[in-house]
This record gives sequence, C-alpha cells and structure tokens, in this order.
Amino acid sequence: MSIEKLQKELGRHRDTAMKSDSNKDVVMELLEAVSKYTYDSSYASMPILKHLRSLRSAHDDEISALAKSIYSNWKSANKLISTRKESSPAPGDSGSSTPTSASAASPAAHAPAHNRRAAPAASDTKAPRPAGAAYFDSDQISADRNRIARAIYTSLSRHHDWAQISNDRLVKFSHDLEGALANEFQPLSDAYKSRMRALALDLGDANNEQLRNRIWNDPYCTPAYLVTAKAQDLASDSMKEQRKLRLEKTRNELHEAKGIDMESDDFLCPRCGKKRVRYSQQQTRSADEPMTTFITCLECGHKWKE
Ligand SMILES: [Zn+2]
Repeated sequence: MSIEKLQKELGRHRDTAMKSDSNKDVVMELLEAVSKYTYDSSYASMPILKHLRSLRSAHDDEISALAKSIYSNWKSANKLISTRKESSPAPGDSGSSTPTSASAASPAAHAPAHNRRAAPAASDTKAPRPAGAAYFDSDQISADRNRIARAIYTSLSRHHDWAQISNDRLVKFSHDLEGALANEFQPLSDAYKSRMRALALDLGDANNEQLRNRIWNDPYCTPAYLVTAKAQDLASDSMKEQRKLRLEKTRNELHEAKGIDMESDDFLCPRCGKKRVRYSQQQTRSADEPMTTFITCLECGHKWKE
C-alpha cells in the first residue's frame, strides 16, 4: 500500500482508535505497514504526521506504543535530513540527537561517553543549527546526558550476553534510550531522572532476562516504548512480587495504625455467603489480646465481628 493510501486509511480510523480499541487490528496493521517506510522529507507537510502524533495517545497501549515509535524514528530521521541540508527541522521539533556507535572490539572497552559526537560547533557552518542541538549548547548538559546514557549502559551490561549482542549495539541502545527519555521529558528534569532510575533498575535486574530479550528481539520494544511503558509491563515477576508485598505492607501498616476500613474478600458473610466485605480492626481490650475485626458485608449489609 502506498503511503498516501495508508495515510487515508489511518485518517479514517484515527478518531475511533482515540476512543476505543474496537478497530485495533486494522489500525495495528496500517501502522505496521507505515513503519516499513523510512522518513522522507516530503512527509513533513502530509497529514500522516498529524495522524501519528494523535495516535501516540490512542486508547490502546499497543497502538500508542507503535505510533510513538514510528513518530520518534521519523523525527530522528527528519533531524538527519535537516542536518545534511543544513536547514532547520520542522517547527516544534526538538529532542534527541542521533548517536554514533562505538567501534570497540572488546566488550566494555569503550563506555558511551567516549562515543557521542558533539553537535557541530557554530563556527563550522553559517547555517542555523537543528533545534535538537540546543540541548548541547552547554558542555555541562552534554556531559550530564552522557553520564545518564552511561548509567543505562552500566545497568544493561551487568547481565549482558556479550556473545549475542555486540558492544556497539549496547552503546547505541544506551544513547537511543537516553534520547527517548529526553524526547519524553525535559532533559535532566526530575521526571527524566526518576524515569531513568526506574528503567535502570529493571534493565539491570538479574531476574529480568525477559526484558533484555525483548529489547534485542522484539521490534515493539523500542526506546520510545520503554520510556512510556507501565511499570507492570517492564518489571520481572520477582520485582512485581516485591512491589506488591511492599504495597500490602504499607497498606496494612496504615490500616493498623488508623483502623481504616479495607475492602477484602478474606471474609465470608454468614448471612448471604458472598465474600465482598469491608472491615476494620481495633485493639478493643488489652494490648496482648488479639485485635477485634469489625466486618460489614457489602452485598447485604450484614455486620459482625470476629
Ligand atoms: Zn452478606
């Protein structure tokens, strides 16, 4: 299908995809077809860009992830084209630069910090610099962002399978992920840093072989996807379990401290036999006796204590 045809079809299905996932299959198919096109400067004035921009916040997570990924790839490509032509990129464009990859022969011989080519200095050319280069105006910001890319690299390399994935790919991915972070959040802002820390935890998690496999093998698991994915979708099972336990512990502590009502299915209502109840516990007698639990059935309203 031509890009014009894809554009027309996407336009037809876009509004529905924003509200529901009822046309998910067809939209995913269209987006997958679009993703096979590499960005061409003629797209800059075409509605396809607008469709992709909207679909980044589509109702369905997979649709929005794929739209984000295509959009961000195109954006990087647009920047490359703009740089080559020494002209400004499309208005409103900003964010990541295009990383260069290492030529290291041995693993970990080169950290990402050595491999990022700085944006061209103003004296190199009279033409205006691309907007993305604005982030690199300060050597300090550039150095800080390099450090973030390096931290990502360090996390990932902790359990890295060097036989399968080259150091070059690891370095490039670290820069791409940092670039995606900088696209999504203001570079070096608190949001950017806290997202980076969360990602680094998952990427370096010894039990999260699954996530690392997805990064290298799953075409949907792009840097753009990773920076916006839900925590649940990235964490290893043991990490999820840990978080759940921590949450439960906090809830229990809160509840014991304040006698707050909790909803639960731990109790069976003796009157209606349903298990949807609200309960609270109180220390009614002396401290060495067990707490009394006051239970209210949410189905029939029956109250009792245990
Ligand atoms: Zn009941």
